[in-house]
Amino acid sequence: MTKEPLGTVIARGVFERCPSCGQGKLFQSYLKPVNSCAVCGEQLGHIRADDGPAWLTILLTGHILAPFLLAIAPNNAWPDWVSMTVWPGAALLLALAILPRTKGIFIGLIWRAGSIGSEKQP
Ligand SMILES: [Zn+2]
Repeated sequence: MTKEPLGTVIARGVFERCPSCGQGKLFQSYLKPVNSCAVCGEQLGHIRADDGPAWLTILLTGHILAPFLLAIAPNNAWPDWVSMTVWPGAALLLALAILPRTKGIFIGLIWRAGSIGSEKQP
């Protein structure tokens, strides 16, 4: 069995697709991976990404929002309640949008590494 290229596996994770075939859906709900791919049958449900996706999501959310915050916040006259609603709200929405994609990336990378996953006995 040949391994898919690293970039391909990462791209499939970003688009929440099976790391093996790129066609089947990776998640059956927001963050719950399918047990096996509906297209190619690859077993994916045993792979646990743990805290990796949360770490990458926080890293990306901060780096995406920080420039906007630094550019906009010092020069605007927003009332405090607006600032305290807009910035945390933007961070929350961005994190919710990014999290399944980073989880897809981590599942793909773990799958590509050939890890058995923490839920499957060797
Ligand atoms: Zn598949």
